Amino acid sequence: MDDVVVVGGGIIGAATAYFLSKEGRKVKVIERDPAYKKASFPLSLGGFRRQFFQKENINLGKFALEFISDISSTLKTKNNPNPTASMVPNGYLLLFGPEHAEEQYEALKNHKACDAGTKNIPASKLKEVFSWINPEGLETATYTDSKIEGWIDPHMFHNALKNKAIELGAKFEKGDVKKISDIKAKTIVSAAGCWTKELLDDIPVEPQKHTVFRLKCPKHYPEMPLTGDLPSGVYWRPEGKEYLAGSPNSKFDCPDLEPEWDDFENLVWPALANRVPDFEQLKLTGGWAGYYDCNVLDNNAIVGKHPKYENVFLATGFTGRGLMQSPGIGRGLTELITTGKYQTIDLSCFGLDRIFAKQKRTEPYVL
Ligand SMILES: Cc1cc2nc3c(=O)[nH]c(=O)nc-3n(C[C@H](O)[C@H](O)[C@H](O)COP(=O)(O)OP(=O)(O)OC[C@H]3O[C@@H](n4cnc5c(N)ncnc54)[C@H](O)[C@@H]3O)c2cc1C
Repeated sequence: MDDVVVVGGGIIGAATAYFLSKEGRKVKVIERDPAYKKASFPLSLGGFRRQFFQKENINLGKFALEFISDISSTLKTKNNPNPTASMVPNGYLLLFGPEHAEEQYEALKNHKACDAGTKNIPASKLKEVFSWINPEGLETATYTDSKIEGWIDPHMFHNALKNKAIELGAKFEKGDVKKISDIKAKTIVSAAGCWTKELLDDIPVEPQKHTVFRLKCPKHYPEMPLTGDLPSGVYWRPEGKEYLAGSPNSKFDCPDLEPEWDDFENLVWPALANRVPDFEQLKLTGGWAGYYDCNVLDNNAIVGKHPKYENVFLATGFTGRGLMQSPGIGRGLTELITTGKYQTIDLSCFGLDRIFAKQKRTEPYVL
């Protein structure tokens, strides 16, 4: 019998394998597509932020920075002597209209309690900090400018975690797990992302297709933060000399990952040009689509032991934030598995009791 089997070698599987291996557990990771063609993490925008409503999500965002900042030493291996996640710490800027402002003022109390280091300004002062913005229709904005939020290269980050886990003894094998009962192990961790329901049919997580567009603009602002325009739902960031922008339109029941190209003209371009007048000159140069592991109950993570099994743990439902939460979730699951309870960030609020009791714990501001 195996010691630990992790099903799914994506970002959550790799982070969990790393932390468990560091604690001396013998980990086997089973991944059905080692090229990760449809996995969510390589198709993500790579963003990490601490601007959330709930304290646990804020603290997971803080830990992401701490962990990513240290990987040149913590994830160093013989094969990968200079691990990097190519961090771009440009910060985040979230823009709120009157309909979201009250909720955001509440969120700011949690930012303060968690010492998140965020700044808030009224929309009337936005242009003093971000010259490129049209603040019309906005009431308030929250941002960071001290290199504590930004984005990384998801593939490089995954590679560094996987390499270190392997050096610590983890084995990554190709395989398609059909049923959780097919696995014989002391501990099983389901890290199957948006496909979790194939293994655990009582978990309310569905693949939700999101489209990202690649754009060129004669006016380039390399220092631009990852900006989320809550009134339109559009978000964007620089990518090298271009930009990436996410469509607010998402779709369930989409077996194909063909981008929703019409969204660019109908939704994304008008919203971008409205908020950043220079973006009137945008040119579409490409795009892709990927699946969010969407928790259809409350848009929040599902993490912990499955109450119907002796030895099954899971982590999924991150709804657009699984990459940034992967270090905190890998560490937390490892604490739960090896000591019986969380030792650092208390993640019990993400446990399965709320799921089966259908008690929503909704995190607003899904980007
Ligand atoms: C367009 C887009 C933008 C995003 N932007 C961000 C962002 O800016 N920041 C952020 O933090 N997150 C972002 N996300 C979300 C993030 O990518 C996901 O939440 C995260 O990747 C989930 O990690 P995971 O390891 O659970 O799933 P995945 O990365 O999908 O990995 C799951 C793996 O499990 C394997 N698997 C599944 N079932 C089985 C089985 N039965 N047997 C064997 N293997 C199996 C799959 O092949 C897959 O490789 C974004 C996602 C998308 C699509």
